Amino acid sequence: MEGKAFFIDTTLCTGCRGCQIACKQWNQLPATKTENWGSFQNPKDLSFYTYKLVRFSEDIGDDGKPVWYFFPDQCRHCVDPPCKEIPEDPNAIIVDQLTGAVLYTDKLRKVNSEDVRDACPYNIPRAQPGTGYMAKCTMCVDRVHNGLLPACVKTCPSGAMNFGDRDKMVSLANKRLAEVKGKFPKATLSGIEDTRVFYLLADEPARYHEYAQATIIPGGIDRKTALKRIARPLKELSREWQLLHKLAS
Ligand code: SF4
Ligand code: SF4
Ligand code: SF4
Repeated sequence: MEGKAFFIDTTLCTGCRGCQIACKQWNQLPATKTENWGSFQNPKDLSFYTYKLVRFSEDIGDDGKPVWYFFPDQCRHCVDPPCKEIPEDPNAIIVDQLTGAVLYTDKLRKVNSEDVRDACPYNIPRAQPGTGYMAKCTMCVDRVHNGLLPACVKTCPSGAMNFGDRDKMVSLANKRLAEVKGKFPKATLSGIEDTRVFYLLADEPARYHEYAQATIIPGGIDRKTALKRIARPLKELSREWQLLHKLAS
C-alpha cells in the first residue's frame, strides 16, 4: 500500500502536548476556552478548532499504583474512509493522491455533520457551531508536499511521533512491538491494517480512550455484527464435527 503514514509510539509519549500546540500554531487555530474538569487533559475534547488532542486517562495499575495513559488523538486517514461514503458529492471529501490524506472541503457544509461524525469509527470530525463547516487533521499536506514533516511530528521531543512512507512505518511499528513485548505483554498495534495513523499501545486499547480502537470494522460492519457472522459458521462446523465423530465411533 503506497502513500504516507504516522506511527505513534505511546510507550515513548510523555504527555508534553507539544504536538497539540504545534498543530494549533501551524494551522492558525484559535485557543479554546477550557475549564478544570478533574483531569490534566486540556481541552476536554476535539473540536472544529482542535485537530489534535493528547488524551490523558488516569487509572490504577495491577501493582496498585497510579498509571497515566497518554493518547495523541487525531484523524486516522483511513485507507478506505467511511466518512467519505456519506456526502452525495464525491468531491466533498477528497483523498490526496501523493499521501493518501483524507481532506475535507467546504462542500461538506451542505451535508448533515452528525451523519459524517457517526460514520467515523474513531469519532473524529467536528462541525463549526452554526455554519455546518467541518474540520479535522489535514496530515499537514501543505508541509508534506514541500518535503517537510507534519508539524506535530516535527515538534515531538521523545520520538513518539513518526511519519514517512506507509510500508516503512509498518516495519517500524512491528519492530517496536517486538521490542516492548517483554516489558508490556499486552502491547498491541491499533489501526495498522486499514489506516494511515497507527498506534503502539502498551495496554488494552480501552484503557487509553473509548475510540483508541475502531468501533466499526472496514465495510461498515460493527464489531458485534462481525463477531456474530464469524460465530455462526463456527457453530455449524462444530455441529458437523460432532456428527462426523458419531459416525466414526
Ligand atoms: Fe474519516 Fe474518521 Fe477515518 Fe478520519 S478517522 S478518515 S474522519 S472515517
Ligand atoms: Fe495537526 Fe498537521 Fe499533525 Fe494533523 S498532521 S494533527 S493537522 S499538526
Ligand atoms: Fe507525546 Fe510527543 Fe505529543 Fe509530547 S509531542 S504529547 S511526547 S506525542
